[in-house]
Amino acid sequence: MFDEATIKQSAEIFNGKLIQPGDADYDEARTVWNGMIDRKPAAIVQCADVDDVVNAVNFARENDLLISIKGGGHSVAGRSVCDDGLMIDFSRMKDVKVDPKAKTATVEPGAALADLDAATQKHGLATTGGLVSETGVGGLTLGGGMGYLARKYGLTVDNLISADVVTAEGKVLHASDDENSDLMWALRGGGGNFGIVTSFEFKLHEVGPEVLTAQIFYPMETAEQVLRAYRDFAAEAPDEMSCYALAVNVPPIEPFPEEYHMKTAIVLVACHIGDTKEGEKLLEPLQKLAEPIFQVVGQMQYAALQQSFDKGAPKGGRYYWKAHYMKSLPDEAIKTFVKKVDPLPGPFSLVGIEPMGGAISRIEPSATAFPDRNAAFGMGIWSGWTEASHDEKAIEWTREFHKAMEPYSTGGVYANYLDRDDDDRVKDAFGVNHDHLRKIKAKYDPDNFFRMNQNISPKS
Ligand SMILES: Cc1cc2nc3c(=O)[nH]c(=O)nc-3n(C[C@H](O)[C@H](O)[C@H](O)COP(=O)(O)OP(=O)(O)OC[C@H]3O[C@@H](n4cnc5c(N)ncnc54)[C@H](O)[C@@H]3O)c2cc1C
Repeated sequence: MFDEATIKQSAEIFNGKLIQPGDADYDEARTVWNGMIDRKPAAIVQCADVDDVVNAVNFARENDLLISIKGGGHSVAGRSVCDDGLMIDFSRMKDVKVDPKAKTATVEPGAALADLDAATQKHGLATTGGLVSETGVGGLTLGGGMGYLARKYGLTVDNLISADVVTAEGKVLHASDDENSDLMWALRGGGGNFGIVTSFEFKLHEVGPEVLTAQIFYPMETAEQVLRAYRDFAAEAPDEMSCYALAVNVPPIEPFPEEYHMKTAIVLVACHIGDTKEGEKLLEPLQKLAEPIFQVVGQMQYAALQQSFDKGAPKGGRYYWKAHYMKSLPDEAIKTFVKKVDPLPGPFSLVGIEPMGGAISRIEPSATAFPDRNAAFGMGIWSGWTEASHDEKAIEWTREFHKAMEPYSTGGVYANYLDRDDDDRVKDAFGVNHDHLRKIKAKYDPDNFFRMNQNISPKS
C-alpha cells in the first residue's frame, strides 16, 4: 500500500531526497520542459547514487507503482513525469568525467548536453549531441542522438561504448559489446525500455574548440529556390559539413532588419569541422542563393554553437511535435513545405530539415536499435507557443503540416520526436528492429515495468 506512512518510511532508505506533494520544492521538481504537461507524482526521489536507483526501483515494484525517469526533462511528451507514481529524478547526478588520453567520457544520467560539452571541450574533445544544450544526455542518447557531429562521427548511440543499467528486478548490469551485448544493442536507440542507465560511457573526438559556422537567413519569397539548392548541396556535402534548413520566426532584435521581425524565414545553419578554408569555400554558394535578410559566417566556439538555439525553446513554453524521415526532397515536397509553413503557429515554432547521411548511413539499420539510417533528411515540426487558448489551433496546424509532408516520408519517425498522441507510431520508430526489441524487452523487462517511454511491448 502506498500511503503516507509508506512514503515516510521509504524516505529513510534514500541518500538523496524524497519529495512529496505539499513540500516547498514539489512543484519545481515535477515541472518539465513542455509547459503543457502538468502531472502530479505521488513522490519524487532525487537520487544521489546508484543505490538510490536500486532502492527506488525495488520500492516501486514492491508497491506496484508506475515509475518515470527524468534525465533532462526535455521529452516533448513529458515522459519523465507520471501521475500518482514515483518519479526518479536525476537532477543531483550530473557528473561528467573525461579521460583525455583514452578520449572517453563517463556521464551521469542527469547531465545536460551543456555539462557534457563543457567537460569535454576543456580537452578539445566532443561527442555527438543535439542542438539545444539544456537537453538531457540520457533521453537523447537512448533514442539515437542527432546533431552537428553526426555526419562525421555517427549518432550519439554510435559513440556509446558501455552503460551501467539498473534492471526492473533491481539488479545492476554492465552492458557493452562484450557483456550483455543484447542489452547494449537495445540501448543504442531503443529508448528507456530496458532499464535505468546510471552511467553512460562515450567515445570522444577532437572537435574545436572553434568550428566554422554559418547562419544565413533568407526571406520566404526566395524559399523555394533556397531549399532546392540546399537539397542539392546536402547531397554532395562532405561528412565534415552539417547543414540544417529551418523555417523560423526572425528574432525581433538587431541586427535583423525590423521589417522582418517575427516574420517566417528560411535559415541555413551550418557547422563545418574540417579545414576552415575548405569549409569557407563550401559555404560560399550557400551565401549567394538570393539576397539574404542577414548572415553570419565565421569561427565560433563549438560549445557556444551548441547553445545558440537555447533561447528559442524555453522551458515552460507550450509544445507539440510531429516528425518524419524524408526519402528525398523532390520539388513538389519543397512547394508544399513553402506553401504550408508560413505563418508558423507561435513564437517558439520551427520546422527543421535535418541532414542525415555520412557516418549515420554507413552503419547497417539492424546493427543498432536505431533503424532509420538511410533517410536523406529528418523533418521535425516543432511547434511552440505561449497561450493555452492557442493550443487547439497550434496542434491542428502541426497535424496538417505533418499530413501534407507524408507522401515524401519514408514512413519512419525518430523515436525522440514522438509526442503524447504518437503511441501508434512506436512501431514505425523502431522499424526493422521492432520485433527484435520486443524479444529483448521480454528478457529484461517482461512485466513492462518501464513503460513511461516510447513503449515496446514484451514479446510473449
Ligand atoms: C528543445 C529541444 C531540442 C532537441 N534537439 C534535439 C536534437 O538536436 N537532436 C536529437 O537527437 N534530439 C533532440 N531533442 C529530442 C531529445 O532527444 C528528446 O526530447 C529526449 O527525450 C531528451 O532527453 P531528456 O533526458 O532531456 O528527456 P527526459 O524527458 O528526461 O526523458 C525522456 C525519456 O528518456 C528515457 N530516459 C531518460 N534518461 C534515462 C535513463 N538514465 N535511463 C533510462 N531511460 C532514460 C525515459 O524513458 C524518459 O521518459 C530535442 C528536444 C528538445 C526539447
